[in-house]
Amino acid sequence: MLIIWVSYTAACKNKDSGFQSIIDSVMSTLSHLLLVFTDLDGCLLDHFTYDYELARPALDKLKQSKVPLILTSSKTLAELAELSAELKLQSPFIVENGAGVVIPDGYFSTAVSGLVYHEGWWLKCFGPALSEILTTLHKIREENGFRFSGFSDMSSPEVADLTGLSLPRAEMAKQRLFTEPVMWQDSETNWQVFSRLIQESGLCHLRGGRFIHITGGGDKGIALDWLRECYFKEAGVKPQVMALGDSENDIGMLRMADYPVVVRSPAHEPPLVTDKAGLVLTDKTGPAGWNDAVLDRLKKFSNERQKDE
Ligand SMILES: [Mg+2]
Repeated sequence: MLIIWVSYTAACKNKDSGFQSIIDSVMSTLSHLLLVFTDLDGCLLDHFTYDYELARPALDKLKQSKVPLILTSSKTLAELAELSAELKLQSPFIVENGAGVVIPDGYFSTAVSGLVYHEGWWLKCFGPALSEILTTLHKIREENGFRFSGFSDMSSPEVADLTGLSLPRAEMAKQRLFTEPVMWQDSETNWQVFSRLIQESGLCHLRGGRFIHITGGGDKGIALDWLRECYFKEAGVKPQVMALGDSENDIGMLRMADYPVVVRSPAHEPPLVTDKAGLVLTDKTGPAGWNDAVLDRLKKFSNERQKDE
């Protein structure tokens, strides 16, 4: 992975980017700022088909209301860049379960420190590079004879078979920078040992919808909080944050949000989020539930703004 360290402030001197005018128009007119962070699989995207048509009304309304929608997923930069372009989003996105935040060039006009330039994007990295994680993970597997397969062990057709993704999408899913999705194929007893060894080595594991994600740092909640601070500095207004998730790996993000929403899953029980006031569980599953929750929040947000104007 080729990474070039440069100052983000310097990069922002070029104001020709189309993003700048958009962020200005969002920021300069608002005394209220709402950010919507969303998980993808099982939330905005249907668990089985990856379709988002049932969420179309809320997606259109977000755009109309100029509310930034921040995709927050276990997916890679390559996958999220494609989906972001398809949805015509111009906001940052959070990749690989919060191990990194990706910011379009010129999006913020204020300086953001500690960013890395990578293939036309600015990255905030919360953990080590994937090569370091794989070295540790493979050592633990070899020393203990654990049975599991990670994306780095699989070919693109194997990943496509396992996930139901098309071959080109499976190839993008394999272009990882910070985390290794793992399919556990061993016993529950060995899982307990593996889990302990992973933690002792300084790594973490998070259960997603289909995979266990091995990461070296960051989670969706840490990434959300970091990005919220960037918007705060940019706009001078403390953003209100809505977050939508359906799995255990969304708990960090749900805890950080002002308006946390668990999107009901057709495939598994809702994650257990205790002691979080105002947590909402949608009636409908997947993108239909997502749509209802976002439209409801936008209506309340709009009413609050009108009241204060
Ligand atoms: Mg999910």
